[in-house]
Amino acid sequence: MVKKQVINIIILAVFLTFSYAFSQLYNSRKLNFKGDLELIIGKSSNLPATWVGNDEVAKDIPILVLAGHADSQGLAGAGTSGEAVDKFGLDPMNPEISDELFWNLKLQESIVKLGKMKGLNIRSYVPRIRNIDDPNDPRTNWSVGHKFAKHGGYAIEIHFDAYGKYGMGSGLIPPFFESPNQIDESIASKFGRFPLQFRGGLGAPRRQIRILEIGKLEGTLEKNLRDEKTRQKTIKLLSNEIVHAFLNGII
Ligand SMILES: [Zn+2]
Repeated sequence: MVKKQVINIIILAVFLTFSYAFSQLYNSRKLNFKGDLELIIGKSSNLPATWVGNDEVAKDIPILVLAGHADSQGLAGAGTSGEAVDKFGLDPMNPEISDELFWNLKLQESIVKLGKMKGLNIRSYVPRIRNIDDPNDPRTNWSVGHKFAKHGGYAIEIHFDAYGKYGMGSGLIPPFFESPNQIDESIASKFGRFPLQFRGGLGAPRRQIRILEIGKLEGTLEKNLRDEKTRQKTIKLLSNEIVHAFLNGII
């Protein structure tokens, strides 16, 4: 009888040890997964970029978040329709706009909401008209962002990059005529960086608007966004990373 009890105790002890070890392993894996942004957004751009953002930023700097392609849903420049639609023939999220704009708008809203909760001086701008042909029309993202930046604000336009060989991956494109600051550095250290001269200096960076490519609209990232079970969690996680990058850049 005593022998049987001893065996039972030994079995229980072995079981507890294993389950403890397993739970530690499981939790640490889960934490690593959460901490590893790359697993969610995919690879960052591997283009050679040497810029470093050193300029200090005032704590209450006004931040403006723009959704890429919100004013260009015409034939050209509408943004990527993503791998799911373009390659696998799935329905677009909203037939009236590109899938990229659909997600840019969702992220924009979430970043601004979370940013306000965290005490940032942050806002968004969404043009009322979905297609404005003249980039210098005062209602475009670029005109509003340019004006905002000229008054000392930090304007950033968010994008998702094209899938497969058409895209480069995640990363920040700094402003063209201004030296990058510590917010730029903080974002680039999480999302990667594009060269200053990327495509000869795009329209937005020439107007002092940063471009953040969050990741390619493909694979795990796109699946997690499209799946209703993981959508909110993914949007929250991405906005959280971006808002914390702002906070780390100004404190
Ligand atoms: Zn885009």
